[in-house]
Amino acid sequence: MINYRLKINQLLFPQACMLCAAPAGGELALCPDCLQDLPWQTSSACPQCGLPSHDSQLCGNCLKSTPAFDRTRALFNYAYPLAQILQRYKYRQALHIAQSFSTLMLQRFYGISGFDRIIPMPLHPRRLAERGFNQSLEIARLLNKQLHGTLDTASCQRIRFSPPQASLPLKARVKNMRGAFRCEQRLDGQRVLLIDDVMTTGASLHALAATVKAAGASHVECWVVARTQAKG
Ligand SMILES: [Zn+2]
Ligand SMILES: [Zn+2]
Repeated sequence: MINYRLKINQLLFPQACMLCAAPAGGELALCPDCLQDLPWQTSSACPQCGLPSHDSQLCGNCLKSTPAFDRTRALFNYAYPLAQILQRYKYRQALHIAQSFSTLMLQRFYGISGFDRIIPMPLHPRRLAERGFNQSLEIARLLNKQLHGTLDTASCQRIRFSPPQASLPLKARVKNMRGAFRCEQRLDGQRVLLIDDVMTTGASLHALAATVKAAGASHVECWVVARTQAKG
């Protein structure tokens, strides 16, 4: 039932592993060996922000300054070869990689559902025009087919064009995101799933979650492909 057409396509056009070019299996663009070697997030992590944390307890950062989102789930640590895979995905618009990420999220976070809407990290229209596609939207679109929420690209907008976060030191990142988003619709009592490719300090997701909460959302969860593990 799941992605029947995709399966037929793969019989006709088998995929090669994006890392080693061996034949890849199923819906993934990775062979079983490369898949196993990826830096899966397996160690215990803070449930709220996804950073390493003893016994999966709330970490010191979250206790000190609580993020606006309630939960974070990450597939991978942001380590080799995730940076390379994500670069390829983002700049070559390799949509089969979005398929792999969404399939892996659904496998890994199996049974977690009940979201009223799924909101991919919005790009500023200028950035979208530069890049040609929103990397988080493509993953969210595929997840939404299985999670049966509402894919929502309309209610939250990025209203301020800001420099890429990666070019800024930590304090400036938080400041850079202030007033970055606007939500034009009430989301009272809704459970919202936010999708992003990489979570670094969490400043963007925090700002987006705060906007969604201010619009009335009751629960905000983040699913990201990769989480950097540096504290701070
Ligand atoms: Zn491989
Ligand atoms: Zn935390």
